[in-house]
Amino acid sequence: MYRQAKHDRRLIMEKDGSSDFDVPFSDDLQGLEDFAPAGMLRESLDLPSLPEREVVKHYVNLSQMNFSVDNGLYPLGSCTMKFNPKYADVLASLPTVAGLHPYQDEDSVQGALRLLHDLELALCEVSGMDAVTLQPAAGAHGEFTGMLLAKAYHAKSQEPRTQVVVPDSAHGTNPSSAAMAGFEVIEIPSGEDGCVDLEALRAAVGERTAALMITNPNTLGIFESQIREIAKVVHEAGALLYYDGANLNAVMGRTSPGAMDFDIVHFNLHKTFATPHGGGGPGAGPVGVRERLVPFLPVPRIVQREGRYRLDYDRPDSIGTVRSFYGNFAVLVRAYSYILRKGADGLQEASERAVLNSNYLKRRLAPSYPAKYKELRKHEFVVSCKRLKEERGVRALDVGKRLLDYGYHAPTIYFPALVEEALMIEPTETETRETLDQFAEAMLRIAGEDPELVRSAPHNASVRRVDEVFAAKEAILSYRAFKRRAAKSSPKG
Ligand SMILES: *Cc1c(COP(=O)(O)O)cnc(C)c1O
Repeated sequence: MYRQAKHDRRLIMEKDGSSDFDVPFSDDLQGLEDFAPAGMLRESLDLPSLPEREVVKHYVNLSQMNFSVDNGLYPLGSCTMKFNPKYADVLASLPTVAGLHPYQDEDSVQGALRLLHDLELALCEVSGMDAVTLQPAAGAHGEFTGMLLAKAYHAKSQEPRTQVVVPDSAHGTNPSSAAMAGFEVIEIPSGEDGCVDLEALRAAVGERTAALMITNPNTLGIFESQIREIAKVVHEAGALLYYDGANLNAVMGRTSPGAMDFDIVHFNLHKTFATPHGGGGPGAGPVGVRERLVPFLPVPRIVQREGRYRLDYDRPDSIGTVRSFYGNFAVLVRAYSYILRKGADGLQEASERAVLNSNYLKRRLAPSYPAKYKELRKHEFVVSCKRLKEERGVRALDVGKRLLDYGYHAPTIYFPALVEEALMIEPTETETRETLDQFAEAMLRIAGEDPELVRSAPHNASVRRVDEVFAAKEAILSYRAFKRRAAKSSPKG
């Protein structure tokens, strides 16, 4: 049984800073008012004054109270990229990478521009698209960019297309992005097999449809084998087909969105091409398009002229800039190094192993965690705790919490909504068979444990079960907010 560290739980702000070893600021720093504009100097800052040792201890201890991709299995579904190779971090931290300034003259950053240009080409190759922009900062941002592209494309041909169609298995960001771009969202139900229902699609698509947004394999891990037929329905109606690339890990090298007749694709580099994912760090959501959409891509475009790389802003049909500068450069460098290191064969092998691991685990879990729909899945699968709930009163949430006691991060729970008491599991390509077996054994054991024990889990984590409704409704995200709340609940402050 795994045990998380339990340390002092006070905030660093609440610790006593008095120490004989505090080093006062040097006298050289006196007279700051000569440098800072009047009115911008503050007398005091509400920051703790702690010796360095205390600060180091505080953060190392905090890290031991946490769970990370580097200390155990992280089977969170639909989120991939548990593998963050250290070489990619090293390369992204090189002074020639991290020390660049976006306002540097083009001539002094030719290497960086070449890297971005070559990454665009590599992503074209992987996706089967004709051009890629690296600007969007995340998958959802890529979706939004893609929707703006669809809008600009239809506006150019003066087609009043106001609707975007999404299946009910879609990730929540799909309808949100379409709505943010000003489209009306039309949801279509999935069929008996968990795939797009062609009849429902035909009924929903028409002359007002701007695009259909789907991911393939879908969020159930099922490959939409009728994708060419789906594409035909969409294209015959004059609409565009948008590929949510979050599940690209399942098909890379085997097929591509281009081969499936998609027109616009976003990549989640932090899910497919090496960047720490989870915890809200920076990501990247490049967007690839077919030739006819290229004129609308965001500016600047990186172009080659007379043997030099240049930033081209002169593109009259462009939707403009969607992010400052050229994207999250350090994430792009990681993706580039990962792609070069793996090569075409390596990328294909990564997706094949991801699919194999997923199906192996699905089969091992089957005795206690049945999965609806098709037998074989792609890189992830969704099981149901419905039976466990009916027979033992144990829900998907409880299983997720209990897994923490065994040293595993919880899978995604209650998504997609079409599966009751859903656990969405994605082991990825990098886990060993031994790890998968141990995880399966823990899951099967939990299904037979005393329901009360499971319902009150976690028992060995540094934080016991939290009140998630409270956390969602009363977000206390800064020390200032924390103090404001404390003052409210005790009138004396
Ligand atoms: C993660 C995910 C997204 C959104 O991507 P972000 O990079 O988190 O913004 C969209 N669709 C699917 C299926 C996803 O798994």
